[in-house]
Amino acid sequence: LKKPELRQNLVTRQWVIISPQRANRPHDFEKKENKKETLPRYSPKCPFCRGNEKWEGSAEVLRIGDKKNWRVRVIPNKYPVLLKEGVREWQVSGIKRKMTGIGIHEVIIESPWHNLSPALFSQQQIIYILQAYKKRFREIAQDKRLEQIIIFKNHGEAAGTSLIHPHSQLVATPIVPYQIRFRYEEAERYFDNTGRCVFCQILAEELSAGERIITQNKHFVSFVPYAALSPYHIWIFPKVHACSFQNITLSEIKDLASILKDILARLYFGLDNPAYNYIIRSSPLDISQSDCFHWYISIVARVTKSAGFELGSGMFVNPLPPEESAKFLRNVKLD
Ligand SMILES: [Zn+2]
Ligand SMILES: [Zn+2]
Repeated sequence: LKKPELRQNLVTRQWVIISPQRANRPHDFEKKENKKETLPRYSPKCPFCRGNEKWEGSAEVLRIGDKKNWRVRVIPNKYPVLLKEGVREWQVSGIKRKMTGIGIHEVIIESPWHNLSPALFSQQQIIYILQAYKKRFREIAQDKRLEQIIIFKNHGEAAGTSLIHPHSQLVATPIVPYQIRFRYEEAERYFDNTGRCVFCQILAEELSAGERIITQNKHFVSFVPYAALSPYHIWIFPKVHACSFQNITLSEIKDLASILKDILARLYFGLDNPAYNYIIRSSPLDISQSDCFHWYISIVARVTKSAGFELGSGMFVNPLPPEESAKFLRNVKLD
């Protein structure tokens, strides 16, 4: 691909400009972020470090491992975007539409150690983290005031993290946010028109094309989407159709941990620990079975910045053709 090309993401109907002449080579995007090797394993000031827990009056909601030697902890976010207590109240008056700011905001502390990059976690540690995600998801899904759960991770300053200690977050909202609603509606439309899940369709075609696949195992596939918004934008899809993350089985969790560890290691070693976000996209909570929606993980390496054109058009410019992103990541040498 030499000339610019517009590509459409079937999941969002969003257009992206693949613009290779704006880039030089993959290593131009490499950017050092947050080198953890120079940080201490334990920091006396860090609230997430093992040894600094405030067990008295602790609001801990989940712990994996025993009290002293815990592996993963989940605690309420100290500065939540939404408050847990309250009634879901919806009000419309003229142009004003509002709802009480209720919801859940939790922090998943991914490791007892301050300086360990998630790319270097053991597979077992990632299994614990995914099990914590699942447990919290299933429990919070029982709260009838809430409509959506978003689990995400910000790694590195450019990805918006404020604390270095490895952690991810869960936010449950009383409405279905635009990003999910829009995807869900598109998936329904696609299903109405074709009788197929758009995600299953993408998966089948990506597997047969092969050029954007990074890696796969029994239950999961990682690949760079055809209309990737930015360099090294990665999707991880479960191979078997399922609309919600909350029904993931233990053998699927093991495979997901393995593929996630592999992808994070490819980013870490191939691009020298770039900042990234990952998001688990799952169906709205009132939809427990759906033939049209398919849960997945989106990983966005923060190696390019969006600016006025993106804000003005909603259209991203990706200087690295998705096939080249995939090839680069496929070829990263791991031990
Ligand atoms: Zn810490
Ligand atoms: Zn599907």
